[in-house]
Amino acid sequence: MTARRFRKLLIANRGEIACRVVRTARAMGYRTVALFSDADADALHTRAADEAVRIGPPPPRESYLDIDRILDAATKTGADAIHPGYGFLAENADFAEACEAAGLVFVGPPTHVIRSMGDKAAAKTIAEAAGLPCVPGYRGEDQADGRLTAEAAAIGFPLLVKAVAGGGGRGIRAVHAAAELPDALQAARREAKAAFGDDRLMLEKLIEHPRHLEVQIFGDDHGNVVHLFERDCSTQRRRQKIVEEAPSPVLTPTHRERLTGYAVALAKAAGYRNAGTVEFITDAELNFYFLEMNARLQVEHPVTEMVTGVDLVDWQLRIAAGEPLPLRQRDIAIRGHAIEARLCVEDPYDGFRPQTGIVAHFAPQEGGSIRFDTGVETGSEVSPWYDSMVAKAIAKGRDRTEAARRLATALEDAPLLGLPNNREFLIALLRSEAFERAEIATTTLDDWAHLAAGDEASPFAQARPAPLHWALAAALHAEGSGGAGEWFWSGSAFDFSLTLTCGVETKRLTYTRPRSGPMAVAVGGDRVDIALIENAPPRIVFEADGVRRRATAAWGDAKLYLAIAGAAFAFAEPDHARADDVAEAGRIAAPVAGLLVKVLAQPGQAVAAGETLALIEAMKMETRVTALAPGRIAAVHAGAGSQVASGALLFEIETKDAPADVR
Ligand code: ADP
Repeated sequence: MTARRFRKLLIANRGEIACRVVRTARAMGYRTVALFSDADADALHTRAADEAVRIGPPPPRESYLDIDRILDAATKTGADAIHPGYGFLAENADFAEACEAAGLVFVGPPTHVIRSMGDKAAAKTIAEAAGLPCVPGYRGEDQADGRLTAEAAAIGFPLLVKAVAGGGGRGIRAVHAAAELPDALQAARREAKAAFGDDRLMLEKLIEHPRHLEVQIFGDDHGNVVHLFERDCSTQRRRQKIVEEAPSPVLTPTHRERLTGYAVALAKAAGYRNAGTVEFITDAELNFYFLEMNARLQVEHPVTEMVTGVDLVDWQLRIAAGEPLPLRQRDIAIRGHAIEARLCVEDPYDGFRPQTGIVAHFAPQEGGSIRFDTGVETGSEVSPWYDSMVAKAIAKGRDRTEAARRLATALEDAPLLGLPNNREFLIALLRSEAFERAEIATTTLDDWAHLAAGDEASPFAQARPAPLHWALAAALHAEGSGGAGEWFWSGSAFDFSLTLTCGVETKRLTYTRPRSGPMAVAVGGDRVDIALIENAPPRIVFEADGVRRRATAAWGDAKLYLAIAGAAFAFAEPDHARADDVAEAGRIAAPVAGLLVKVLAQPGQAVAAGETLALIEAMKMETRVTALAPGRIAAVHAGAGSQVASGALLFEIETKDAPADVR
């Protein structure tokens, strides 16, 4: 095999993975080229590489998925290799082929492997031949509803409808009874068509409460295949991984040997080269079932790096250059335990709805056993066009307990301010008894009713500001750059009064600065003595009740964002408080910014409360727009296929209570 030398690597991706690939490429002495859409002109990844090329407008199809433009960018900059990252074109065989046709080194497996493994049905056929156990199901070419219905009956319920071209948990529907099948087929087809341009479906028996295990493998051009052990990605929400770890807390050495053996057998059978992941689910008895093979680097690859000491991107680049694998199987070992958590700008207290806006503060500290892979920093804009995962936090420990503790603490120390996000949720999750005992299966979080907002007794409930938090907010407004409130002389001290809101609460606060001693803040009936020791946002040190504490503060969007000990709050003056974005029953607004994929209600149509009126695709997820009360559609303000802003008026509804004047 001849060496495939290259000097300059173009990263056909964005966000944290583009930044992460640049880091290793640079360390290896390669020049790097980033791509950016108009939405990412100032993004972290755009600035991370040596050069960056604008490839088009924000929609992925016109930028990060546009093969011709990406190849143009390579030509323009003289890049001679391409790393696809994950998502976007990472498992697109046409892209790999086009790269090779253009004389570029594609950092990934051979085209034929991407093609066969990208097709879940074809991959299962190869896997079965290699001796891997698969979940019983139907994966035939005949896609007629009649055939699928008959096959479903033969498999039995519950079952899963899956997109053959699927990935990222999309195009999957659970079906518990025959009556649910037609809707599930339709929804899965629509989602698969939109996401993958391929609406073929397959059916699979549903394994109840499974764990998700996957094995990292690597192959080279010289006939070597090794595994780098397993990752356990059972902590999922709606089939999306949120916390991943290595090694799995449930495998015995015997099971580990069997699982990794399967993965290596498949990689050999498939003629695999470069990095890949073989995914399995397992039931409570540790029966393994092959799910699919991902022919690329995974989001959660850092946990493998932390426990094996191998830089997977370094290996990817070496293998792409034709070098042999740097280590033999017997030289690869696991030390300690690593856990990763995905930081997403999704609001756990509002159905995990994706958020967009400006990051008012994010400056995580790395070191030793803590790693952050991030695509944003203070000042970054999160646009509605791409994934809501903005960073990953990874911690290593001598054992699982230590890794979880370190990760939770690292997250506490790394507030992401300015946008609602899942940081506090992740901290509560890592500290939960269920996680500690490794009892979380892929469906567990979906079954946890107490995750819903409002259950105040739950450790997952949204933190409410305590008098101390209100007091600090008042002190920072009085002594800082807040602008709100007013001072007056009370005869013996300066008083400062203001009204602040935080979430649904509003409080009148009076802050008193005496001639000497700590400031006192009256918060409703409570009195808090507080002294600002250091007021240099984002760094705040204050003393209250004889205890010195640190806080992180950022001003932005007429709000004060404040993080203390793992909790984060946004304080605003009532005038600036965000108008309640829950639409009144008669005016239904877009809950998120995104693409209006389907409008289901027409003018004049009667609708029931909770009825789905439209579907918006934002950040790779479908969000339903529903009627809040029964009524009749008076007007529809946007058509399918249009891009809508968050809060844009979509429907006007004459509700039943309104004057009966519907003509
Ligand atoms: P994707 O490629 O979209 O990630 P997968 O086939 O890997 O889809 O499945 C995603 C997740 O769905 C898995 O991690 C697992 O939690 C769940 N899952 C997939 N197949 C089954 C099954 N047959 N039974 C139960 N859960 C499944």
